[in-house]
Amino acid sequence: MPWVKREDCNGCGICIEECSGGAISMVDKKAYIDMQNCIRCGVCHDVCPEKAIRHDSETIPVEVEANIARTKECMEACVRHLGRAEEAQKSLKRWIKHYNRARIVAEKTIARLQSLLEGETELR
Ligand code: SF4
Ligand code: SF4
Repeated sequence: MPWVKREDCNGCGICIEECSGGAISMVDKKAYIDMQNCIRCGVCHDVCPEKAIRHDSETIPVEVEANIARTKECMEACVRHLGRAEEAQKSLKRWIKHYNRARIVAEKTIARLQSLLEGETELR
């Protein structure tokens, strides 16, 4: 999924004109992508003169750190609210289950999409 590296955006608006999904607007003189409307056409990556529209693989380390920070916050909050030290580990186990579930959903989705890529299933 595309995202805008704001410090590199010059506000030219080219991506807004070229966006196939009408997903890009200008917010505080910088391009902003509404992911609900993005159809993943990839045009914005090609037309940006500043290479400000980036691929989301770059944000994986940031997202991992944010997930870990959020988990730690919840562990601490559980201990605070429930008053028992063991609640931290229980909360941690729930978060691990949560991310395991997300992994399973992603793996199953990828497997189905892979079959589309290989022409085994028709797009309807
Ligand atoms: S084309 Fe690039 S530099 Fe121009 S507004 Fe879009 S993201 Fe910013
Ligand atoms: S990938 Fe396509 S639809 Fe999505 S923001 Fe870029 S140009 Fe718009």
